[in-house]
Amino acid sequence: MPTPSIDPTASSAAAPWDGGWHTSAVRQPSPNFGPRPAGAVLDLLVLHSISLPPGEYGGGQVQALFANTLDWDAHPYFQSIRGLAVSAHFFITRSGELWQFVDCEQRAWHAGRSCYRGRSQCNDDSIGIELEGLEGDPFEPAQYTTLVHLCHDLAARYPVAHIAGHEHIAPGRKADPGAGFDWQALRQQLQWDAACFPSAAPPHKRY
Ligand SMILES: [Zn+2]
Repeated sequence: MPTPSIDPTASSAAAPWDGGWHTSAVRQPSPNFGPRPAGAVLDLLVLHSISLPPGEYGGGQVQALFANTLDWDAHPYFQSIRGLAVSAHFFITRSGELWQFVDCEQRAWHAGRSCYRGRSQCNDDSIGIELEGLEGDPFEPAQYTTLVHLCHDLAARYPVAHIAGHEHIAPGRKADPGAGFDWQALRQQLQWDAACFPSAAPPHKRY
């Protein structure tokens, strides 16, 4: 194979990063985060689905939720989540636009009570990625494209060894991203080893 030429101005393989911020993302810092425990090994990516109100896309309400600026009175559904203080590191819109709310070096609030690969409190050592969508419904090809790029960029910077859904780290309590998420397509596009993926997917078994 030919040796790739090295651009001396390029910092490293972590070029798309400004610290723990992805340089291709729309940056909208959220106040909902805290420090990770000392020595946290960021080896898990957690996929979620979210839309506000559920099933309505593109209105900017998810971004408002993560910024604590959502108008709780703007829609009846918002009463059910009034006061919720949450965040994720990333959000991928239906058109594949990437947003970032929390520095990957910090602990975002997306997982809640959870356990995976023998470790609990997954917020401590995971990176949360929200896909704009409705739990159980399919996602857009543009979202997979952005997700795959993001996963590769994250894996170039962190020792990513696992990728799972919220439903896998909090089974029985959470069901996102749900049956409409195509794990097989993601695996094919990422070309990551099967061991990186939830053992029950695909097909996804529910107990
Ligand atoms: Zn979730």
